[in-house]
Amino acid sequence: MNSFVYRDGYLFAEEVSLATIADRFGTPCYVYSRSMIEDRWHAFDEAFGARDHRLCYSVKANSNLAVLNVLSRLGSGFGIVSGGELERVLRAGGDASRVVFSGVGKSDAEMRQGLQAGIDCFNIESADELSRLNDIAADTGVQAPIALRINPDIDPNTHPYISTGLKQNKFGIPIEIAGDLYARAQSMPNITINGVACHIGSQLTEMAPFVDTLDRLLMLVDALRGNGVELKNLDLGGGLGIPYRDEQPPTPQDYVATLMDKLDKSSSKELRIIIEPGRALVGEAGLLLTRVEYVKHGEIKNFAVMDAGVNDFIRPALYDAWHEILPVSKRGKGATHTYDVVGPVCESSDFLGRERELSVAKGDVLAIKCAGAYGACMTSRYNTRPLAVEVMVDKDKTHLIRRRETIDEMLATESILPG
Ligand SMILES: *Cc1c(COP(=O)(O)O)cnc(C)c1O
Repeated sequence: MNSFVYRDGYLFAEEVSLATIADRFGTPCYVYSRSMIEDRWHAFDEAFGARDHRLCYSVKANSNLAVLNVLSRLGSGFGIVSGGELERVLRAGGDASRVVFSGVGKSDAEMRQGLQAGIDCFNIESADELSRLNDIAADTGVQAPIALRINPDIDPNTHPYISTGLKQNKFGIPIEIAGDLYARAQSMPNITINGVACHIGSQLTEMAPFVDTLDRLLMLVDALRGNGVELKNLDLGGGLGIPYRDEQPPTPQDYVATLMDKLDKSSSKELRIIIEPGRALVGEAGLLLTRVEYVKHGEIKNFAVMDAGVNDFIRPALYDAWHEILPVSKRGKGATHTYDVVGPVCESSDFLGRERELSVAKGDVLAIKCAGAYGACMTSRYNTRPLAVEVMVDKDKTHLIRRRETIDEMLATESILPG
């Protein structure tokens, strides 16, 4: 299901015209469709059928409180990578007992915070982290539930910046030493072994790397069982891709069915399956509205200079990502030209799209599609530009979920030297 469709030449989000949203809230403005997020969540959830499972939405893909709240109302779990994200989940009504905490650099304070909140699992990424967590749990007087995040050394065939399951990546524990580390974990008084986890990368468009990873994890689970280590949870991480251009990633249904088929043929059918989708839940459910400030026709290139730049949307610059760019109104358009769609920021990497056929004039609003994941949450104030506003559409209602900050708010935490 797609909530962003043209009606009479105007692009809509559910039942609201995006041109109206741009006028009312200003640009740059992220717009999300509540029903699309919910639809995606249910697609994953229902694909598991009666099997014991948990969806832990990866908060870092889009951490706006309203997005987290919509998902927590569905009963979602959450995957976090910082203490700040834990706080967001709790403030959005999320349940700590459904939170899994990954990340290679968890601090003492973050470990304490997780233990005090009573999270479901720490996904441990190194031997030192395991010992440190045991010490802090002893100090806090509680048991720390853990899974080891395994690095299976599998190539996810995605952009190198979003590959995480290869030997050269900083993430996870090499599968060869996992057995020894589980044995050590078992002997630590304040550690409770909960399961095994992995996450091999993002924007995967084929099943093979997921399946190969599951194979390796199941072999590990068998070996552990042989050594008397029983696991409850098998956390397969996130990473399922979305179609930005012509990619054809598996649907949530196919993705879950393929993995569960594999699991059913193993001796570990009874494990509870956790998945941590981020992009696949929210990516297609959001777009970024931006207005044309200037049109520059040059000798070898034409530029549409927008009011959103690399600080508002970094994916094209950071990952060489391609996003479809659509006019919010197709009415009364003149001749098209080829444009580089660029921002106002003083960097040549400040582009939203290159070589696009568009008919644009000053004041026109364009929509950058599939911007719901790794968009708003990666914005910065570079060039002292305020963060983009965010809006959630729910049928015919529009909710402002992040208002535009004032210059006073932007500068509030800075100070000049005395005297
Ligand atoms: C980023 C991340 C995810 C989510 O990845 P997507 O590609 O957005 O699904 C899941 N788990 C961990 C540990 C992550 O770091």
